[in-house]
Amino acid sequence: MFVDKAKIKIKAGNGGDGAVSFHREKYVAAGGPDGGDGGNGGNIIFQVDDNFSTLIDFRYKRKYIAPNGENGGAKRCTGKSATDLIIKVPRGTLIRETESGRIMADMSDDEPHVLAKGGRGGKGNANFATSTRQIPKFAKPGFVGESFDVTLELKLLADVGLVGFPNVGKSTLISVVSAAKPKIANYHFTTLTPVLGVVRLDEERSFVMADIPGLIEGASEGTGLGHEFLRHVERCRLILHVLDVSGSEGRNPAEDFEKINQELANFSESLAECPQIVVANKSDMATQEQINELENFIKSKNLKFYAISAATTQGTKELMQIVSEELSKLPPVKIYEAQPLTPADWEAKLSSRQEFEIEIEDNIYYVSAPWLEPILRTVNMEDYSSLQYFQRVLRSSGVIDKLEEMGIQEGDTVNIFGFEFDYIR
Ligand code: GDP
Ligand code: MG
Repeated sequence: MFVDKAKIKIKAGNGGDGAVSFHREKYVAAGGPDGGDGGNGGNIIFQVDDNFSTLIDFRYKRKYIAPNGENGGAKRCTGKSATDLIIKVPRGTLIRETESGRIMADMSDDEPHVLAKGGRGGKGNANFATSTRQIPKFAKPGFVGESFDVTLELKLLADVGLVGFPNVGKSTLISVVSAAKPKIANYHFTTLTPVLGVVRLDEERSFVMADIPGLIEGASEGTGLGHEFLRHVERCRLILHVLDVSGSEGRNPAEDFEKINQELANFSESLAECPQIVVANKSDMATQEQINELENFIKSKNLKFYAISAATTQGTKELMQIVSEELSKLPPVKIYEAQPLTPADWEAKLSSRQEFEIEIEDNIYYVSAPWLEPILRTVNMEDYSSLQYFQRVLRSSGVIDKLEEMGIQEGDTVNIFGFEFDYIR
C-alpha cells in the first residue's frame, strides 16, 4: 500500500531533575551542597532514508517519544543524558505542525533535522550556593521536552511530472525512457502509486520523471482518484501534459487538455503556473489531420507541442532531449523553507498550559515554569520590544499577579532560569 500522508505525535525527552544533597564525610561537620544536575532529555531527530518510499510505517505507529534524562545524584553526579530518537522518512517528506500547518522541515537533504528538542536537565543544589546562601535546600526540576503533533506529507522529488487522463499512455512513456517499470494496462487507474524513473541522456545529463495516477474530473475537489496525488507534482520543474491524440475511447484531446489544466489550477496556483510541454501520444493510431488540429490548438496557447508514440517509442528520444534542454533553463526542484514559530504562535500555544511555581529564597523570587524557557531563549533582553513581549507573556500567564500576591515589592529580584531582573511595577 502506498501511503503518502500521516499524522503522528512526537515528544522529546524531559530533562532529569537536579538533586538536593549535602556532602557527607566522616569527621566533617557541615558538608556543603553537592547535588548534581539532571541529564538532558533525548531529542526527536528526523533523517532521510532512501530505503523507504512510503509513509506506511507511520500509519501503524503514531507516537514517538524520546527517553528522559536521568536525575542528578549526590557528589555532584550529573544524570546521564538520554539518547536521541531518530525517525527515518523517505526523501521528500514535508513535516508540518498539524495545528498551524506551518512547515517545520523539508526532508529533502541528508542532514538530520531536530524537530523536538529534549528538555535540559535541572540544576542540582550545588549550583545555588552563594556567599549569602550557603545551604540551598532546593534544586531545579528538569525542563519538559518539546512536543508536537505533526503531519508528514510525502512530496516526491522529481524534475518532470507526467500529468494526464487515465489510459493516455503516461506509464508506457516512463517505461520506455527510463528503467522504471510501472504497471501498464488498458484500463483506468492502473497506476495506483507514483513511480519515479531516472531518464539518462548521456554521462552528464539525467533527470527524474514521476508518473502519478491519472487524473479524473473533479479530482481536485476530492471526488475521485488523482487529487491526492497532485502533491507529488508540486515540486516538479516541468509538467509533461500527455494527451491521447488519436481520441481512442472517444476522448477529445483538446477538451481533456482544458479539463486537466482546470484540475491543476484548482489544486494550486503553483501547479497552474508550472511550465508545460504538451505530448500528443498514440500518434501511431491518429490521422495526420487529428495531429495537425491538436497542434494548432496547443500552439495557439503558446505551448510547446510534441507528437510521439510511446508504444512504438517513436519520437520519445527526441522528446527527452527537448525536456532536458527545457530543464536547463528552469530553476531547481522546489525545496520548502522551514517556518519558525512566531512570538504570536508561542503566545497561542502557551495559553493552554501556563503552570508555574514561585519560591522565595533570601528575598529572591524564583519562577519555575518549563514552558517559559523556550520563550526566554528567543527574547533579546537588550531589545525594548522584545522585553515588552516577554512582560506581556508574564502578565497574561498570571506570573506577575502571583508575584504581587506573594508580596513582591518594587526593586525586589526575580530569577527566571538564572536570568535575574529587578521587579518594576
Ligand atoms: P496511463 O494510464 O496513462 O499510464 O496509460 P498506460 O501507459 O497504462 O497505457 C494505456 C494503454 O494505452 C495501454 O494498453 C498501452 O499499451 C496503450 N498505449 C500507450 N501508449 C500507446 C501508443 O503510443 N500507441 C498505442 N497505440 N497505444 C498506446
Ligand atoms: Mg499509468
